[in-house]
Amino acid sequence: MKVTILGNNSALPAYGRYPTSQAVTIDGDVLLIDCGEATQIQMQRYGIKWRKLEHIFISHLHGDHYFGLPGLINSMGLLGRNLPLHLYAAKPLESILQQMMAVADTALPFEFHFHPLQENESEVLVDNSKFKIISFPVEHRIPCHGFKVEKKSRGRKIILEKCREYAIPAYFYERLKRGEDYEQVHGFVVKNEWLTEDAPQTKKYAYCADTVFTESFLPYLQDVDTLYHESTYLEAETDRATLRFHSTAKQAATIALKANAKQLLLGHFSSRYKELDLFATEARTIFPNSYVAEEGMEFEV
Ligand SMILES: [Zn+2]
Ligand SMILES: [Zn+2]
Repeated sequence: MKVTILGNNSALPAYGRYPTSQAVTIDGDVLLIDCGEATQIQMQRYGIKWRKLEHIFISHLHGDHYFGLPGLINSMGLLGRNLPLHLYAAKPLESILQQMMAVADTALPFEFHFHPLQENESEVLVDNSKFKIISFPVEHRIPCHGFKVEKKSRGRKIILEKCREYAIPAYFYERLKRGEDYEQVHGFVVKNEWLTEDAPQTKKYAYCADTVFTESFLPYLQDVDTLYHESTYLEAETDRATLRFHSTAKQAATIALKANAKQLLLGHFSSRYKELDLFATEARTIFPNSYVAEEGMEFEV
């Protein structure tokens, strides 16, 4: 699983170096988390294909997190994308988009499903054979959600030489992955553990969107491999961060430590800061494996 930081186009001065929007790639499938202005340009720039993009998650309805969405959806339609598209966001976005399409008399050439996020609740949004995605409420000036993406293990790992040795038919491999033993015609049982080994662990990525420092959603973050937590400010501006429902780098690192995360990505920096290394330096005093997420960067989860 890979996270690509798309961000708003840094050529737009209003956003400074706010890397909010992100693409998550899981075995060829693409998920989009937030869609700030110019996200479709950033996707092209960083090689994110929307052919396999079926799920878009919007954390909240501040413009830096969704102003790129109408343009992206419209482009997808014009370019003949045809897979169904699922959008998960706060309820008001549904009527905003409907009105835009209605006044423009636009009909999309693909199925479009809007899934309103429940305020103050955690929900399972997607659960298929490859990944599971949940939402969880964070604390911001307006209703806001974080998302956790869990890449599922694809079952036990087959040892091909052993399968040949015991003449296991290929049709049985799927059942071996699920841990079953194989019984030969004369009744001899070939143990699963002779034929397979432990699969790689599931991987977990959590995106905490815009939030004030709070432990209220910590239970959703336990033991994640990679955690994205906003750090709009440095510690010297803690009061301002609290007042504006944002966090500091030190607070983000505290959450990563308490969650027992393996890696922390910092983002959503106020444009007042010119030197982003300061964010990593501050976070590393508490959580050493902290990184500044800038647009175009890729992180393996
Ligand atoms: Zn916000
Ligand atoms: Zn924001």
